Parts: sequence; structure tokens; C-alpha cells
Amino acid sequence: MKIKTPEAYLESLRGLPRTVYLLGERIEDTVDHPMVRPSANAVAETFDPGEEPGAEELLFATSHLTGERISRFTHIHQGTDDLVNKVLMQRMLGRRTSTCFQRCVGMDGFNALYSVTYECDQKHGTEYHERLADYLRYVQDENLVVEGAMTDVKGDRALRPGEQLDPDLFVRVVDRTPDGILVRGAKAHQTGALNSHEILVMPTTAMREDEAEYAVSFAVPADEKGITFILGRQPSDTRKLEDSPLDVGNPTYGSQEALVVFDDVFVPNERVFMCGEHQESGKVVERFAAFHRQSYGGCKVGVGDVLIGAAQLIADYQGVARASHVRDKITEMIHLNETLFCCGIACSARGAATPSGAYMVDTLLANVCKLNVTRFPFEIARLLQDIAGGIVVTMPSEKDFENAEIAPYLEKYLKSAGGVPTMDRIKILKFIENMTVGCGAAAYLTESIHGAGSPQAQRIMISRLADIPEKVELAKRIARIE
Ligand code: SF4
Ligand code: FE
Repeated sequence: MKIKTPEAYLESLRGLPRTVYLLGERIEDTVDHPMVRPSANAVAETFDPGEEPGAEELLFATSHLTGERISRFTHIHQGTDDLVNKVLMQRMLGRRTSTCFQRCVGMDGFNALYSVTYECDQKHGTEYHERLADYLRYVQDENLVVEGAMTDVKGDRALRPGEQLDPDLFVRVVDRTPDGILVRGAKAHQTGALNSHEILVMPTTAMREDEAEYAVSFAVPADEKGITFILGRQPSDTRKLEDSPLDVGNPTYGSQEALVVFDDVFVPNERVFMCGEHQESGKVVERFAAFHRQSYGGCKVGVGDVLIGAAQLIADYQGVARASHVRDKITEMIHLNETLFCCGIACSARGAATPSGAYMVDTLLANVCKLNVTRFPFEIARLLQDIAGGIVVTMPSEKDFENAEIAPYLEKYLKSAGGVPTMDRIKILKFIENMTVGCGAAAYLTESIHGAGSPQAQRIMISRLADIPEKVELAKRIARIE
């Protein structure tokens, strides 16, 4: 592993000149810009062995390709232990950062492609699997961050890729040469794209025979010619420019999403992992989605742990911790959070080997996991706001606390339970604001609905995978219906 520390990771990104736009302007400082840096800090945590018991075993694995010690984020799962450890690692990092640490999409992308390329080669006589294994060796050896890019912009949702008025609304191959392909299109909501060394593109839906140009998967360096990153906004994001860390709420860590545009980007053959095999595109989508739906049973649970801690803390600070309804609400938050964890662990423990030898989660249970994630974090956030009170959204700014004229008023009138410094109360309230209506809500709430596919996608998978006719037979047998 060449990149071994958080500092080395940040330094490696600084050496990657990319085309990045933020707030209407091109930015040169793509790592240390105050609106970007917290998201890079979150990814940097994946390079920090940490001090949690067992962290080492969770963050690292042994490569089945080289026998070397590698980051689990670049590993191909070799058994259900790996799948379980992945979820435990994600919970641990969610607890460290209270946000999205962005590196799982690449891991989920490799793992989906690893089994699908194997099956594709068997069926179509292609040679994608070995290419992917070569690429993986490189990523493992360098210890790179890879963005798994699936979501196309999609245009008119009622139309197929090839039916759109603009054919580029799904990423597609526009030209082929003996050495490679030229691709065009855009991927939306790309969490962590800016903090990645490489972009791994996959199709967004199952393609048909006449949509072969859209059945394409490839990897490119993030600084490849023709790639532009347009950073998205988050609620209250410009507070990061105000030099008021108190008002940011989680000043060290954050997430970051981008629209990534591919304007006729050249991809050499050795980095192409699917090109026209439309029959295999649906499998990539299904497996990547299942892995990422599993992932949320880890990362969002870690964030939930921090929020439960915040609920207890603010209840203590405000003198309501002993009220029975507050204790009930905190118990409810724990119940919801651990239910998500149960789902993450269950779909991992029930995983199975694919023909490639790599392990895959139980797809039905992974979808159940994610469908719960579309709801429970909202209930956890609601209970947290309920306990914290309306002050979550009415607090003065850090600058008011620094103003000698009014600071004594704030100190006097915003004091709560005896002995608790007013500023400690405000700090945790600002964090709760961040997580429930500010920047942090982007990753904890909206991403919980739409990340790894919107709720309807999980419902479709659940109804498809649950064997309903078998259940009907069970009922008939018990009721003695012939
Ligand atoms: Fe990882 Fe969770 Fe972020 Fe997805 S949402 S990249 S699983 S931390
Ligand atoms: Fe996500």
C-alpha cells in the first residue's frame, strides 16, 4: 500500500489537478478549500488505523490477488466474515465522522463488477475479468480511493436511454478505436467523486439490445482530459466560508456531492470492463445496489450512534434526562438504529459465493435493510429534535457570542441546567442543527432515501425476490385447502 496515512492521502489529492467548479467559479485548491476540506477529512479517516478495539482487522484485509495487506475498501469479499467486517468497519467510521466517508461506493463497484465480469467472460468469451483483476492489483497496491459512479442524469424518466431527445443523458460510447473507447455523458449525485483518485463507471439500469452503446463500464483517473466536476450545494454550506466553526456544527467532517461530466473522454481498452454486453448490465446494477444497500446498515448506524449520544447529552444539559418520555424516546432511537444494524449484519451473514469465488450479500435482506434506512433515520432525527427543542433552529451565531455587547445576554439567557457551560449546550445544539436540517442532513437524511436507489427500487426488488407463491402454498397446507 503506497498511501498509508491520512496526510499522505490528502497530499496525493493535492497532486491531482482536476477541473472543478464551485459556486460558479473554477477552483484550483480542490482539497483545502473550506467548503471541500471537511469532506476530504472524512475520507482521510479511512486511512487512519484508529484506536478502536479491533480497528486494524476491520480496516485491512489480505488481498486474494496478491496476498498483500490491503485496505478493506479495495478488497473483494472472500467470505461472509468479510461481508460482516465490512459493515462493522462502516459503523466504526460513521461513529468517527458522523457523515459519509465516501469510499464505499468504489468497494461496492469492484465487488459487483468482479462477479459479473467473470460470468460475462464465460458467456460472451470476453476478457474483462482479468482486466478488472489487473486494475484491482493497481488500486490495492497504490491504496487509491475510487468513486463508484452509477447514477445517470436520466432526463425524461418515462423514456428509455435511446429514446431521450438528447442521447447523452445516459453515459454512452460515442466512438471506438483499436486502442479504446470514447465516452460521453454525466453521472449525478456523485458522493466523494472529488476526493477520489479514480472514477469507476457502471451502467445505471438494465439495457436492451438496441441500447448496447449504453451498456458500458470503465475506470478513468479523476484528472483525465474531458472530465469536469460541478460541486453540489448543501443546506447552510457557505457557513464553512464564514470562519465560524461553531455555526457549522460538525466543523471537521462532511460529505460532498458532484455532477461529473464526461465530455468525450478516452478510455484505453485495458480499463474497459463492459462494452456492449447489454445482457449483463442489469446484473451490475442489481449487485452494486445490493452491496450499497448493505453498506447503509453500517455507516448510517454509526452516525445514528453519534445522534443518540447527542440526544442523551442535550437531555442532560437541559435537565430533562430523567423525564420518562425522554428516556422512552432515546430507547426508541436505539431500537431503530440497532434494527438497521441487524439488517446490515443479516444480509452479510446470509451472503453466498458467486461463480467467481467472490461473496455476494443476500439481496432480499440487503433491500429490506435499505428500505428501513429510507425511514428510520428520519424518525431518529425527529426524536432528536423533539428532545432538543426549537432552539435547534433559533440560535444566534458564533459572532454574536464573540460580541462583547451582547455576549453577556447570551451567556445569561441561554444557560440551561446548573453547572453546564452555555457554550457546551450551544455546541451540541449546533451539531444537532447540522445533522437534522443543515449540511449533515444531506448525507444522513436525503441520502438515506435516495442513495443506493430510491425506496421504490427496493420495493420492486423485495416483491420480486420474496417467493410469494411458496408462501401461498404454506398457507393452503396449514388451512387444508386442496
Ligand atoms: Fe459509505 Fe455510507 Fe457514504 Fe455510501 S453513504 S459511501 S456506504 S459512508
Ligand atoms: Fe451513499
